[in-house]
Amino acid sequence: MTRPTIAFEQRYDLHIGGERTGPSGGDYSPTYDPASGEPFAEVAVGTDDDVDRAVAAARAAFESWRDTDPGERGRLVHRVGELVAERAAELAAIESKDQGKPLSQARSDVDGARRYFEYFAGAADKLEGRSVPIGPQQVDFTVREPYGVSAQITPWNFPGNLFARGVAPALVAGNAVVVKPAPQTSLTTLRLAELCSEAGLPDGVVNVVTGPGDPTGEALVSHPGVDTITFTGSVPTGRRIMKRAAETVTPVTLELGGKNPALVFPDADLDTAADAIAAGIFTNAGQVCSAVDRLLVHEAVHDELVDRVVGIAEGYEIGPGWDDPDLGPLASREHRDRVLEYVADGQAEGATLHTGGSALDRPGYFVEPTVFTGVQNDMRIAREEIFGPVLSVIAFGDEAEAPTRPIMG
Ligand code: NAD
Repeated sequence: MTRPTIAFEQRYDLHIGGERTGPSGGDYSPTYDPASGEPFAEVAVGTDDDVDRAVAAARAAFESWRDTDPGERGRLVHRVGELVAERAAELAAIESKDQGKPLSQARSDVDGARRYFEYFAGAADKLEGRSVPIGPQQVDFTVREPYGVSAQITPWNFPGNLFARGVAPALVAGNAVVVKPAPQTSLTTLRLAELCSEAGLPDGVVNVVTGPGDPTGEALVSHPGVDTITFTGSVPTGRRIMKRAAETVTPVTLELGGKNPALVFPDADLDTAADAIAAGIFTNAGQVCSAVDRLLVHEAVHDELVDRVVGIAEGYEIGPGWDDPDLGPLASREHRDRVLEYVADGQAEGATLHTGGSALDRPGYFVEPTVFTGVQNDMRIAREEIFGPVLSVIAFGDEAEAPTRPIMG
């Protein structure tokens, strides 16, 4: 893949009521290139007032959007999908630069975003209610209605793809949205909001307020004008949002973290298993909620399988996302440090570092693909989501010894 040549703006504003608008507090914060550690643009820090404006814009737009013919809502959302396909190279380049992932992985995420718009577009005129049989001479039926203003909070690992996953269904059902992306990776979201406008979605139906979890995210999830909250992110933040939402009795949809095991028994095809496990833990540098970050393997094939996975990991080309390597950097300095802390913990608790474990001696937030063996179920690296390129291998001799239940932090 050739290196992209897109130009970034110096400053990115909020997207409210179909327009770019500066933050009321006048503050911007840098967004960093994870491959170099250098800031390359500034992003608006949304205030309570900005959240208020965005919710008001969404509320105003909702009044007519809810009454728009469902077929027309579907057509417009489908058009967003077409624009995503047309601009796939640009969107992937933005996401790869801002988030760090290899370009071809970003392309695949953008393709997934297109599919969300297309898939949900088709549902717009099929959101049927039910006819309830309650006896003769009576008619009882249910009708599906939009909530109103949907607040959408997204994480930094798949910003574009998760925008599409949350926004597309909300729109086709007749809701207006206010999206708050993660501050580390806001640029794909802002570009997608522009494509929503370009597709013909009425002003105010899609709004984006950038900024950190606190105060911007807090202001959004506790805003009385928000009718439903969709959140994807960590378990602690999900818990906090649920508590907040309880105060205003606002329904929430949460997609949280994971600690997913791969289970390998002696009759497995070890080459296929090794490929799947390496892809499962090292794609997007392990920053995937469904990453395979525990490998539970029968002791009869433990050494053979570990050798294969380690061989794949040690053969990886590591570099900036725009060069489309096998493995890119982690998304932020803080996150790199957190992953390295887990590695240190694993060693301190007695696990064997089979390969990797260090930051690369170069600018940017690179961590080597890492494999721990000799991991015990009570170790932190076996229990908590690391969200990095770190595989914890746990050997078992009997199926009953291999606990597969995810353990949430
Ligand atoms: P995070 O919880 O720190 O942040 C997610 C989002 O919430 C960000 O936009 C952040 O700014 C915002 N936020 C933080 N505090 C907030 C608050 N008090 N009020 C409102 N918003 C707040 O998570 P992260 O570190 O960005 O993402 C990684 C996590 O997301 C991992 O645990 C991963 O497993 C999970 N994830 C889950 C899925 C899924 O589909 N289940 C997909 C991707 C990521």
